[in-house]
Amino acid sequence: MSHNRRCRTRRSPHSCRLFRATQQVRKNLMFISHPAFDQHKLVTARYDRASKLNAIIAVHNDNRGPAIGGCRIYPYGSSEDALRDVLRLSRGMSYKTAIADIPYGGGKAVIIADPEREKSPALLQAMGEFVESLAGLYITSFDSGTTLDDVRTIATATSFAAGISEEAFDASESTADGVFACLKAAAAHGLGTDKLSGVTVAVQGVGSVGRRLVRRLHEAGARIILSDINRTSAEQVAAEYHCEIAEPGEIHRVEADIFSPNALGGGLNSRTIPEIRARTVVGGANNQLETSADDLALKHYGILYCPDYLANAGGIINLHYQLSNWDQDALGKHIDRLAETFMEIMERAKTLRLPNGEVADRIAEERFSALGAGR
Ligand code: NAD
Repeated sequence: MSHNRRCRTRRSPHSCRLFRATQQVRKNLMFISHPAFDQHKLVTARYDRASKLNAIIAVHNDNRGPAIGGCRIYPYGSSEDALRDVLRLSRGMSYKTAIADIPYGGGKAVIIADPEREKSPALLQAMGEFVESLAGLYITSFDSGTTLDDVRTIATATSFAAGISEEAFDASESTADGVFACLKAAAAHGLGTDKLSGVTVAVQGVGSVGRRLVRRLHEAGARIILSDINRTSAEQVAAEYHCEIAEPGEIHRVEADIFSPNALGGGLNSRTIPEIRARTVVGGANNQLETSADDLALKHYGILYCPDYLANAGGIINLHYQLSNWDQDALGKHIDRLAETFMEIMERAKTLRLPNGEVADRIAEERFSALGAGR
């Protein structure tokens, strides 16, 4: 029985309000005591019975501007899994917007549902209403499990949706541009050449970002080995761009110069890192490191790592230009600056003898903490 129904059937209006407030406080306490909470500004959840919306929005930091971040739809095994994911993703967006130097903070939304079977216009509209209820504190967009069309449907119920401007192009193109620019910078640093001809790249995941990256790598003459848990996608992309296919459980340990994670997070961990043969890791997936200790582990194994939120910031930079003045040249130059930032991080890391991830975190934290009176 839902809380609302319990309120309606058993309690006076006053005790009902009190009951709801208590429930909200309990929910907040659950959020606040979560190990991934990290001083979030706001975490809020909504269940809508009619549309079956079961969603969480997290706003990590808004010192630089309104929090922005995509809406992920995923069939999480539990609400605890969804909460952990949204908190990690939202925090990551604060670092991403800061490192990309755009005037936004970090936020994220997740919907607990199977995007293949449970996504419906009613569900997306209800999500739009949820976003609208925060009055601009959080701006949503697409992520894994949501398409541009889905964001257009969400936008029928909120004015705080980004990435759907008619004149702009799909932000995933810009994400792939950023990953590609960082990948070339890593090759220049680690392999002594930014020409990717003959360089072998192992690509994990060929969804929106991965397959666009594969196109760029193919055009640059790289040898590509790819994997995707969706065998049909893997075969289609491999056939189009003359790639080899590896099993999903094997891709991180194939013989390659660069490993590029473009699936879901947590792929760099204590099990996989010792097995990685590539000396360089650059990819578009969010939250590639399972724990912060994995940053140091990569350094320990002599693997050059491009911080994920830097490599994949091209998409959010695209959204920034869509929300302000669309200027394709300025967008391209801004994305190229990601590679320059990566070079700067590598230099600082060498001087300070720190892992790249920690140096990137320090730069981002300086930027998003300095602007407000505490986080
Ligand atoms: P997507 O859902 O379109 O693609 C993900 C692909 O990875 C799918 O084809 C899926 O089958 C595959 N996959 C899942 N688990 C796998 C595994 N274990 N091994 C191999 N393949 C696997 O998502 P996307 O939009 O391409 O995003 C990919 C990643 O990049 C996500 O982490 C997302 O948060 C991040 N990201 C995306 C964008 C963007 O512009 N789309 C921007 C920034 C970050």
